[in-house]
Amino acid sequence: MTITALSEVAPDAEGLSVWPASTAGLPHGGLAVGGVPLTEIADRFGTPVYVLDEGEVRARCRAYRAAFPDADVLYAAKAFLSRAMVRWVREEGLGLDACSAGELELAVTAGFPADRVTLHGNAKSPQDIGAALRLGVGRVVIDSPSEIARLAAAVGTRGAQKVMVRVVPGIMAGGHEKIRTGTEGQKFGLALTDGSAQHAIARVLGQPQLELTGLHCHIGSQITDVKPYTAAVRRMVGLMARVRDTHGVVLSELDMGGGHGVAYRPGEPALDPAALARALRAELAASCAAAKLPPPRLAVEPGRAVAGPAGVALYRVLCVKHTGGRVFVAVDGGMSDNPRPALYGVRYAPRLVGRRSTAAPRTSTVVGRHCEAGDIVADGVELPGDLRPGDLLAVPVAGAYHLSMASGYNMVGRPPLVAVHDGTARLLVRRETLADFRNRDIGG
Ligand SMILES: *Cc1c(COP(=O)(O)O)cnc(C)c1O
Repeated sequence: MTITALSEVAPDAEGLSVWPASTAGLPHGGLAVGGVPLTEIADRFGTPVYVLDEGEVRARCRAYRAAFPDADVLYAAKAFLSRAMVRWVREEGLGLDACSAGELELAVTAGFPADRVTLHGNAKSPQDIGAALRLGVGRVVIDSPSEIARLAAAVGTRGAQKVMVRVVPGIMAGGHEKIRTGTEGQKFGLALTDGSAQHAIARVLGQPQLELTGLHCHIGSQITDVKPYTAAVRRMVGLMARVRDTHGVVLSELDMGGGHGVAYRPGEPALDPAALARALRAELAASCAAAKLPPPRLAVEPGRAVAGPAGVALYRVLCVKHTGGRVFVAVDGGMSDNPRPALYGVRYAPRLVGRRSTAAPRTSTVVGRHCEAGDIVADGVELPGDLRPGDLLAVPVAGAYHLSMASGYNMVGRPPLVAVHDGTARLLVRRETLADFRNRDIGG
């Protein structure tokens, strides 16, 4: 395989700014990720298929560790989890944020130390709590008042479970209304403004089975500015000072959650972990000095920013339709492997790979194959005017909230996930087949 300088083979190399750093140009419009040509992956594993660059995931974990040497960095498992991912995250020194018994069991059975896992969830089921206690998770984040007594009862006489309280600091941030979780009027956390957080803290402190280590907040997702985080730190430290004044308890941990934004299209902003770390450290030092509190140990929980930019989704074009003055390019996947455009109106930047086109670009709408008019992959994107069935389209930034949000809609089957690294491709998660659908259906 010859890998040529990107500028020679991809005249719009800047269009690759949101691709994994390992992305390299090949002759005739080809692209390789992790040293493996994408056309080879499509031929070998079929389409649609997710490609995940192990080196990019590891580099992103390392960037976080380097930016936060004195803090805990927990990878948010809900963005994407597989046994290999569990191993990479563990080897790179991160902790894990899980929000179900399923994520927890997968991680622990794949060798992740349970004491480095934090369990979240606005509505934890008895199974979630049971798995957390049986496996011995490091922290459980209390998200509702009723959970306090329930968790304490489940702990019983086995010694205290470390917990944090999830606080809604009243900060408006995040890319879309459905991913803003820092304000009141949504289902997560306990509000600061109406006293629910303070009330929950008092109740937790009254439970000998629970050891309150600190406070948690997660103000939203796709946040690209450090200011909402520093504003949240001020309010959280303010609450920690009130806890000390009211209860004489100095909390030693502050988890500022995740939500660190990434660019889905060239030119979009992203949150730089190093800049965030500097801002958080400075604000924490200043707020704690003002409140005369020792600075708590900080934790952050990036999900998307670790996995998202490491993934690429590959689709085959099935048909091209001209109608109502628009061009629809339909591919062999869609909302069952990526519901995000339909859920949040997210915009992606697909590109033709494996063939060099000289045709003029044309504004096109890439749609999926599902029975839903909102089944859009990318709306209003410039793609070569001669796109035809059989062409391969690649959608970058598909490593987070794609496979983990995939569904069985239309029995299309969830795509496989292939890891690439140092020129080799290996299957991590196989394709969901008709046999899988048939086997789950035991009626008749
Ligand atoms: C979703 C979530 C995260 C990760 O969010 P990203 O946007 O993927 O960084 C972290 N912490 C909590 C509590 C979450 O709910």
